[in-house]
Amino acid sequence: MNVRDSEVVSGLLKNTGYQFVDKFEKADIIIFNTCSVRQHAEDKVWSEIGRISKLCKKEKNLKGSPQKAGTVPIIGLIGCMAQNYKETAFERSPEIDFVVGPSDIDKIPEIIHDLVISKLQAPGSRPDAKRGHSPKNRDSPLFERKIWETDGEFRPEEIYHTGFYEDKEHAYVVISEGCSNYCSYCVVPYVRGSIHHRYYKDIIKEIEEAIEKGLNKITLLGQNVNAYSQPGESFIELLKKVNDIKGLKEFDFITSHPKDTSIELFKVMSGLDKLNKRLHLPIQSGSNRILKMMNRGYAREYYLDLVQDYRKIIKDGILTTDIIVGFPTEAAEDFKETFNLVREVRFNCAYIFKYSPRPGTQAASLADDISREEKEKRHALILKLQKEISRKINKK
Ligand code: SF4
Repeated sequence: MNVRDSEVVSGLLKNTGYQFVDKFEKADIIIFNTCSVRQHAEDKVWSEIGRISKLCKKEKNLKGSPQKAGTVPIIGLIGCMAQNYKETAFERSPEIDFVVGPSDIDKIPEIIHDLVISKLQAPGSRPDAKRGHSPKNRDSPLFERKIWETDGEFRPEEIYHTGFYEDKEHAYVVISEGCSNYCSYCVVPYVRGSIHHRYYKDIIKEIEEAIEKGLNKITLLGQNVNAYSQPGESFIELLKKVNDIKGLKEFDFITSHPKDTSIELFKVMSGLDKLNKRLHLPIQSGSNRILKMMNRGYAREYYLDLVQDYRKIIKDGILTTDIIVGFPTEAAEDFKETFNLVREVRFNCAYIFKYSPRPGTQAASLADDISREEKEKRHALILKLQKEISRKINKK
């Protein structure tokens, strides 16, 4: 989702007349598109902002730039961290000039325009408040030339039609934004908002536009694609329509939620000739007690039945998953159930994460009571098991 968001922002800026440079030292504007799903991802961004702005300052002081010599680039923080930290990001990292949440990315070109103008003006002047996006400025000098936009609800449809894709063959196409599942450990519903589905005709139009540009492989994207719904349209209906698009060679989708995945879906999948049948189906935990605490909405037995149905209907299907170890109160017994489930299902691949509390989520109110050493131990055990399984499958 973040890769696609970066393309969307790149497309908007390119169409406004900006150019990309190959090194950040040459840039007049640097934008960090960020992820809040784990603490580690956030920590990396804070340190990169400091490191890069220091390097740029040094570089530009030596060589000058298209802006005034000695000036530093405009730095933007966008994406989930922007939504999470809002204007407090400026306190944490004063190098940042603007903060824009995932539902406001359409405003980035205007915000940059205002900041460029304000940087060229005398110290103390403020961005032009007459522009459409209402820059908000606080009285503190720290906020004098800062802009933040984090109140948007929905993205305008036009942002998906800039025609900019990183790859020459493959395009990511968003079908729904946000998520309404509120898994207890997850920050996504808070930073990306409730689920919002794009109109299916707009999705088809975007795919046709991509095909016209020479791309012929598509990945349909959503936090929970199976929940896709529009009046008279379900995810299954959408898949059939995409399969019928002329010029499309291959497509797939990510991510599926077990509670919204069904045997009907597998039956339809098996009949679609352009659909890559791989399925990413996050289990998160093999323990029913932990699944309940995670608010996942299914039990271990239900998941195992789904896997059986998938394997029966989709011959040689590729099944992958996500797992979190060390969720609060996860006892040795709970972990054993996850371990045994991995052994039983034999996923082609699994993404295994150590739990880290995300502020504002339900689970953050629980004590993070599994020690770092224990989380690492459990992570290593499942990783070793999964590597062995993947190796055997791949060899075959
Ligand atoms: S389904 Fe759960 S884990 Fe996935 S994005 Fe939604 S809340 Fe987060």
